[in-house]
Amino acid sequence: MQVKYLDLQKQFAESNVKEVVNQVFQDCQFILGPQVEKFEKEFASFCDVPYALGVGSGTDALWLSLKALGIGPGDEVITAPNSFIATVGAIVAVGATPVFVDVLDDLNINPDLIEDAITHKTKAIIPVHLTGNPAQMDRIMEIAKEHRLHVIEDAAQAADATFKGKRVGSFGIGCFSLHPLKNLNVCGDGGMVTTSDFSIYEKIKQLRNHGLINRNESVEFGYCSRLDNLQAAIASMGLKNLRPVSEKRIQNAYYYNDQFRGLPIRTPEINVNSRSVFHTYIIQTMDRDDLQSYLTQKGVETKIHYPIPIHKQLAYWKYKKKSDVYPKCENQAKTILSLPIHQYLTEADLKYVVSTVKTFFDKEKPYREAIEGML
Ligand SMILES: *Cc1c(COP(=O)(O)O)cnc(C)c1O
Repeated sequence: MQVKYLDLQKQFAESNVKEVVNQVFQDCQFILGPQVEKFEKEFASFCDVPYALGVGSGTDALWLSLKALGIGPGDEVITAPNSFIATVGAIVAVGATPVFVDVLDDLNINPDLIEDAITHKTKAIIPVHLTGNPAQMDRIMEIAKEHRLHVIEDAAQAADATFKGKRVGSFGIGCFSLHPLKNLNVCGDGGMVTTSDFSIYEKIKQLRNHGLINRNESVEFGYCSRLDNLQAAIASMGLKNLRPVSEKRIQNAYYYNDQFRGLPIRTPEINVNSRSVFHTYIIQTMDRDDLQSYLTQKGVETKIHYPIPIHKQLAYWKYKKKSDVYPKCENQAKTILSLPIHQYLTEADLKYVVSTVKTFFDKEKPYREAIEGML
């Protein structure tokens, strides 16, 4: 038996992507265009904000937001060290300095540690809704207000998540990715920015398209980071189906959590205050490497998000201060494992994953230890 980590073939085979592509080729308006405007309206309404803008990627959404806020050299931006590297890449891209704050057991930034990291140079906080689970936005917004900091939510993994009933991307400036591996995905790169601030909307709209305010007039030098009509049309198709996708992932997570009770693993906490959309389902176990090899051998595909914390990346060394320690993050890098959670898992798939994990802990482990003990 094989359980795939993801099933994009099935997703697109079941969709009406061919009709959508045909429509785009009838119009032949490829860059920005009517489908982009349509999707921007749909996505803004989905996220409960007045404005949304299509950009080149989730990474671009992040750094264009920083740029629009005027953040650059000499400024510090607080974020978590366990995100995908793009979160920090965006901070570095505008010339600002990333400052890390350790995370909680749920892999999100620890609000209790944020104030200690604030200096007179701090301009913004980028909480990451890692795994699709919202960070503690009430606490974070309170701290930001008190210290007059901007908040940019890295919601790349969290489209359709909510915190205390409020949609992610509607607290600060929201940055989303439409990368093929995300829950709301297209067939290339793409990203969205959401905001309630008209001036930020206007600014990013210019920045993404050479600083142009119309066909011929540029008010400042900008960049080229646009969502194209084809990706927008595919995103629009995906958005219609996103709710059921989230529901299925949540249902799968509940099933795993229930079945894994009693095993020596930490399962994701299901927070009653928020709706986590399980972009990833990450368990934590001391036997991570052995469990992963065993699952691979038994046909269950797994991943690690992410094995090297950002402050341990070669790219980061010059930002690291000697005193930097992030024990939770470093420990989690050794214990986290992402199991298949996607919407196409069948009951048989789920049962197989569970029984394989259980077998590893029930039988294989003592057996292997006994053998190792004998050697
Ligand atoms: C995927 C991802 C990004 C980057 O999005 P791209 O569209 O790939 O540029 C940023 N942050 C997080 C947390 C992500 O998972």
